[in-house]
Amino acid sequence: MERIRLGNTVFEGLNNAYLLPGDRPTLVDAGVATDSVRRDLREGLDAAGYEVADLEAIVLTHWHADHAGLAGELQAESGAPVYVHADDAGIVAGDLDAIAAEREIRERRFGEWRIPDEPLAEVTAFLDGHDDLRGDRVDVTPVEDGDRIAAGDGDLEVVHLPGHAAGLSAFAFDGERGREAFVGDAILPKYTPNVGGADLRVDRPLETYLDSLARLADRDFARAWPGHRDPIDDPAGRARVIAQHHRERTERVVSVLDDHGPADAWTVSARLFGDLEAIHILHGPGEAFAHLDHLVAEGVVAPPDDGGRYELLDADPDFDELVAVPETKR
Ligand SMILES: [Zn+2]
Ligand SMILES: [Zn+2]
Repeated sequence: MERIRLGNTVFEGLNNAYLLPGDRPTLVDAGVATDSVRRDLREGLDAAGYEVADLEAIVLTHWHADHAGLAGELQAESGAPVYVHADDAGIVAGDLDAIAAEREIRERRFGEWRIPDEPLAEVTAFLDGHDDLRGDRVDVTPVEDGDRIAAGDGDLEVVHLPGHAAGLSAFAFDGERGREAFVGDAILPKYTPNVGGADLRVDRPLETYLDSLARLADRDFARAWPGHRDPIDDPAGRARVIAQHHRERTERVVSVLDDHGPADAWTVSARLFGDLEAIHILHGPGEAFAHLDHLVAEGVVAPPDDGGRYELLDADPDFDELVAVPETKR
């Protein structure tokens, strides 16, 4: 298996694509649709002794442009099927209804979060200005949890891990160390993947993501290959650390409300993260929302009032119960 490093100055920084050589050369993820990333990808394939036309399958971990952007043009050149989870298939395919549905939720949420006019204009311009990075339309083959996709000299098992994105899926395979997985942005080695802002279609985003972390911990993969940065040697341990991080963040959200009084998602975000720019204007209040929404569902916080403000009902909840941190086996 070859790791291909791709530039990405737009979103979280460098991206990884992966090539599984063998009987059915397969590419995992495809990078943003820019000239420099196009070049990175071709050079990476070339270094492994392959060209785009050799690809017989392309699998995508999720719909974000830094993972799916080049898929359409790679498909046009190679004829390879592009596999992505059914929940993300519509957006990757460029289906207008799917894209409109996402946009509608986005606009509604931006209002609910009370993002002020100036940052709202900035983030909207950012998102609209980067629409082209999504690249060409893709003829998608949707997959579901548990499906197996022939890839390289073996197969990839689809492991659905929603949260950061609705369709986010890992692809498990027999690697050098045992059962390993390409995990996209389900877990990352350094940052905590954004939840709540990265895919507004996800219902109960924090709870959904925590369930995925528990599942990852339970699978106890020998190694994970993320969408950004270096491989993760103990994915279960990393899932545990990220869950722990969310528990601490939940505590902070409760203390912000306790300190400030009823507050909207934008205000909570400002207390947590300070001033935000570009895509973070989406991710900051999104993350605050994910936690507030979870606290509402658990009865710790009242549903937002007419001004979008959340009021704390219980200043001393049982955080262990609110945010489960998975046990790990090692
Ligand atoms: Zn992502
Ligand atoms: Zn990413």
